[in-house]
Amino acid sequence: MNFTGKRVLITGGSRGIGKATAQAFAEAGARVAINFNSNKVAATDAINSLTGEGHFAVRANISHPEAVERMVEAVAGEMGGIDILVNNAGVFIPHPIAEVSYQAWQEAWQQTLDTNLTGAANVTYCVAQQMIEQGGGRIVFVSSRGAFRGEPTHPAYGASKAGMNALAQSLAQALAPHNIFIGTLAPGFVETDMTTEHLQGESGDAIRSQIPNGKVAQPKEMAHCILFLASEQAAYTTGCVLDANGGSYLR
Ligand code: NAP
Repeated sequence: MNFTGKRVLITGGSRGIGKATAQAFAEAGARVAINFNSNKVAATDAINSLTGEGHFAVRANISHPEAVERMVEAVAGEMGGIDILVNNAGVFIPHPIAEVSYQAWQEAWQQTLDTNLTGAANVTYCVAQQMIEQGGGRIVFVSSRGAFRGEPTHPAYGASKAGMNALAQSLAQALAPHNIFIGTLAPGFVETDMTTEHLQGESGDAIRSQIPNGKVAQPKEMAHCILFLASEQAAYTTGCVLDANGGSYLR
C-alpha cells in the first residue's frame, strides 16, 4: 500500500500496536505524528525507528478535552492538515466486580471510559473538523474482540470498546457525505506491554489454547489491517468492524 505524502496522526503511537502502525505508515511513505501520554523515552525511540523524515511526537493525555484540542491544532499546524487518524490509545485496567472496592470500581470505569471512549470521540471531533475543511480523510478505530466476547475482569474495557464500535458506525454514516471514511479493527490478544503479564505462565497457555493456530498476534499484523482500513481503496468498507483474532472468536 502506498501512503506517500499522507499526513497521519496515531494516538498512543509510542508503543505496541500504535508504534508498529507508525512504522508501517512511515515505510509506506507517510508522514507520522505520534501521540503519547507519559513515556517520553518510548515516544522518542518510536520516532527514531521510523523511516523517512518529518515525523514527530506530541504529548497529550487524550482523557483531557483541552489537551486533545491543543494536540490536534499543533499536529495539523505542523503538517498542514491531517489525512488519516488512528484512534489507538487505550488503557486496560483490571476491576473484577467480586474483588474490588466500590471506589476502585468507579475509578476504573472513569479512567477507562474517559480514555478509550470519550477520548477517542474527542480526538475524532477535533480531527474531523480539519478533514471536513480539507475535503476528506480516513479514520481508524482500534477496538477489541472484548466488545463482543465479554471482559469478565475488565468490564469497563469491554463496554468502552462496544461503545467505540457504535461511535465509529454512527460517525461512518455522519461523515461519509464529507468524504471521510471510517474503519474499526477488533483485535484478539496481541503481544504488547498491555498483555505481557496475561501471556505468561498458565494464563498465557490458556489464552493460546483458545486460538486455533496457538499463536498470539504480533503488533505488525494489526498494523497491516489498520493500513488496509485507512487505504483509499477500502472506502466502501466504511462502518465495518474487522475481526483480527486468529479465529478465536467468530461472530
Ligand atoms: P500499549 O502497548 O499498552 O500502549 C498503549 C499506548 O497508548 C501507549 O503509547 C500509551 O502512551 C498510550 N496511552 C495510554 N493512555 C493514554 C492517554 N490517556 N492519552 C494518550 N495516550 C495514551 O497498548 P497496545 O496493546 O498497543 O494497545 C493499543 C490499542 O489496541 C488499545 O486501544 C487497546 O485497547 C487495543 N487492543 C489491544 C489488544 C492487545 O492484546 N494488546 C487487544 C485488543 C485491542 P504512554 O506510554 O505514554 O502512556
